[in-house]
Amino acid sequence: MSSINIAIDGPAGAGKSTIAKAASKKLGFIYVDTGALYRAVGVNALRRGIMPSDADKVEKSLSDVKVELKFVDGQQRVYLNGEDVSEEIRTPPASMAASDVSAIPAVRAFLFDLQRDIASKNNCLMDGRDIGTVVLPHAQIKIFLTASVEARAQRRYKELTEKGMTVDYNNVLEEMIQRDYNDSHREIAPLKPAEDSVILDTTELDLQQSIDAVLSLVEEKLGK
Ligand code: C5P
Repeated sequence: MSSINIAIDGPAGAGKSTIAKAASKKLGFIYVDTGALYRAVGVNALRRGIMPSDADKVEKSLSDVKVELKFVDGQQRVYLNGEDVSEEIRTPPASMAASDVSAIPAVRAFLFDLQRDIASKNNCLMDGRDIGTVVLPHAQIKIFLTASVEARAQRRYKELTEKGMTVDYNNVLEEMIQRDYNDSHREIAPLKPAEDSVILDTTELDLQQSIDAVLSLVEEKLGK
């Protein structure tokens, strides 16, 4: 029996992970956050004192890096060389490092099989930037989740301050604009909606409305 795959792509801060987590729970699917993989590779570069934009050095560093995803009670944990880095990968420097390393073709190739393998074995909702376009072009459902850059920066600011981090809203906004630019202008697997995706703009929707919108799209397509 082949698995059911739902691809959710979109820019940083569009609420992909929160929405996808809630929707996958409701559907009984696993939720796969692929950004965490790029973040782990980014953290690995930072730890080794490698500039995340230095393609040669990052590529060389992949030879002895092991990135794994494990699912504990339906929750994804990310391991870098056997160490759980699920929290460390969430800091702003890790976000920028992830964006930088993700533009390196060798990094995308390195993480590709891992993503494909999980999707082939599990009913899953996978989120990222290139899931509907590159990783799972045959996903049964593709959603491109977006919102205005200001709404996304506000949400990210709230999320970071609620975690106790001291951040400046304008910096969060600047970083969001920079990441949008990087992610949509890179040569390889740029952020863009797949032709057969449904575009869902959540600027004016609250969280529950966004989750409901995703679930009703799934129901429409899968009768689930
Ligand atoms: O989704 P998240 O913000 O955690 O992703 C971190 C970074 O990883 C993104 O800014 C993007 O550059 C990269 N990424 C990617 N392709 C994916 C998922 C994330 O290039 N499928």
